Amino acid sequence: MFSRRFQGQVKTVTVNRAPSGQFFASVLVEDENQVPEPVLETIDRAVGVDLGLHDFAVLSTGEKVPHPQWLERELYRLKILQRRLAKTTKGSKNRAKARQKIARLHERMVNRRQDALHKLSTDLVRRFDTVCIEDLNVAGMARNHALARRIAQSGWAEFRRQLEYKATWSGKHVRVIGRLAPSSRLCPCGYYNHDLTLADRQWDCPICQRHHDRDVLAANNIKRFAFAEHETGRDTPGVPGERPPVDDRRRP
Ligand SMILES: [Zn+2]
Repeated sequence: MFSRRFQGQVKTVTVNRAPSGQFFASVLVEDENQVPEPVLETIDRAVGVDLGLHDFAVLSTGEKVPHPQWLERELYRLKILQRRLAKTTKGSKNRAKARQKIARLHERMVNRRQDALHKLSTDLVRRFDTVCIEDLNVAGMARNHALARRIAQSGWAEFRRQLEYKATWSGKHVRVIGRLAPSSRLCPCGYYNHDLTLADRQWDCPICQRHHDRDVLAANNIKRFAFAEHETGRDTPGVPGERPPVDDRRRP
C-alpha cells in the first residue's frame, strides 16, 4: 500500500524485506525544487547542541531534550524476548517465532527512534540558522561499557546526517567541531574546572561566580568554539580571538 504520494519524476524504486517479513519500498524522486542560497551566519542565530547520556540533547538556550521514555521499557522487553529465545530448541518452530518477535520489536524501536530524531532535527533547522555540534568519537566512548548501550540507541550519527541534509535543503548551516572534551568544564571567563566529576550536574565558577549547568555550559562552549574554529585569524562576534583548547592539561 502506498502511504505517500510523490511529486516529480521517480528515478529508482528499491524494495527491501525486513527481518520481520515486512516489505519496504524506497523511492528516489527528482523534483524541480532548487536548493536555496545559504543564509548568512551570525552567532546570535546559532544554537549549540550537546548530545549526551543524561539527556539526549541539551541546547545552548537551556532547553533539554530527554531520552524518550519508551526506550527503557522496550529495552527491558527485548531482554525478556532474548531470554525466551535462548530457551527454545535449535531448528524448532518456537525458535523461529521467537526470532521474529525480536526482529519486530527491534524494527519498532528503530522506527520510533527515527521519528524522535526527525522531530528534533526539523525543529532545530527551522528555528536556527546554524546548528553547532561536536564530532563525537563514538567508537572511543563505546569502550566504556556502561555507556555503550545508550550510545548505540541514541542514534547520534543518524541525527547528524538528518541535520546536514535538512540544513542544505533550507539554506541553513551545520558546524561540526572536533571533540571538545572539556566543554562542560570551561567557564567563559577562562577558568578550567579540573575537579568536575560525571556526577556533578552543576558547578559555580570560583573566579567569576557564574553558576553553570554542566550540559548547558557544554552546549554554549560548542557554539562558541564552532564559530571561533571556522573564522581563524578574524575576530568573531562574542569570541574575540579565542581558540579552542587543544589539550586541557595545558589550561590553567
Ligand atoms: Zn568563570
